[in-house]
Amino acid sequence: MSVGDRRAFPPWLEGRLGELVRMVGSGQAPPGLLVTGPKGVGKGLLVRSFLQRMACTEVTDAMFGCGRCNGCRSFLGATHPEILQVTPEAPGKEILVDSIRAVIEFLALSHSGPARLVFIEPAEAMNVNAANALLKTLEEPPGGAMLLLAAAQPARLPATIRSRCRLLRVPVPDQRSVKHWLKPATADTGLAVEEALAACLERPLEAQALLDDDDARAAWQADRSALEALLRSTSPFPVIERFLECDLGSLLPRLQRLLLSVQHYLVQGDLDVFGRLFDPDTLRRFAADRGMRETALVFQDTLQWQRELQAPLNPNLRCEDIVLRFWRRAG
Ligand SMILES: [Zn+2]
Repeated sequence: MSVGDRRAFPPWLEGRLGELVRMVGSGQAPPGLLVTGPKGVGKGLLVRSFLQRMACTEVTDAMFGCGRCNGCRSFLGATHPEILQVTPEAPGKEILVDSIRAVIEFLALSHSGPARLVFIEPAEAMNVNAANALLKTLEEPPGGAMLLLAAAQPARLPATIRSRCRLLRVPVPDQRSVKHWLKPATADTGLAVEEALAACLERPLEAQALLDDDDARAAWQADRSALEALLRSTSPFPVIERFLECDLGSLLPRLQRLLLSVQHYLVQGDLDVFGRLFDPDTLRRFAADRGMRETALVFQDTLQWQRELQAPLNPNLRCEDIVLRFWRRAG
């Protein structure tokens, strides 16, 4: 969904958006605000909706920007002169100190308009130098500016950053309201709402993208067939090729989840909702071959591989390394 699309706005975010708008309206905005909540729950959407509401010059609605005025349009085109959004150069990469220097320069520019707004997402992607560079600005941003940080894993932020921010927690929505919000796709995707949620590890915004968006669906199909190839193949090399077609940032959490499904099968004798998205014979054979102990060990490995994604490494080498380590476990 696009920012400012009121009808599609997740209902579990409405209360928080109202809080943010009221905070600014009553002059209570803190210099630093840390928005936390699980991945895929809508932290970015919440903050961007708030930023658009602040950019809107028509203000026909208490909570949402109109989407048509110059303010909304320049925000949506990322050219708004008072609003700066900072993200890593590519998903999974660090936010470097240069990006934070750009924030400091942006806030130092003289201006006569409303207070400036800066949004850093995901904040835990800032490396140590970047976080250190931000500290002083976070304490006393010039011109009454407000810095908004979103983090799914706030514990990975330095305590010095956390302690300078007011906290805004996005609640974990209950399953019923998520399912009600997720509309079945208009095109025939072969995916039910429950299946889309399972495929996206219960992250509602990603599930909505899977139901709505061809690219998200293609990425899921690529992940699924790479994982089936990994579990089934008799040689690691074709699997490495499949891994290279995938984004490891989504593939590895799905591998981790799939190994849980295998464990569930070994204990309960049936496949859970995630496991049922895969070829049942492949999973059953893998479960029979590997057993509980080995599956648990590979599960531990997937946690380690996800941590290692932070470190820079050539993608070919990384995929080869992961697949070969998976194979060595089997040996
Ligand atoms: Zn507007």
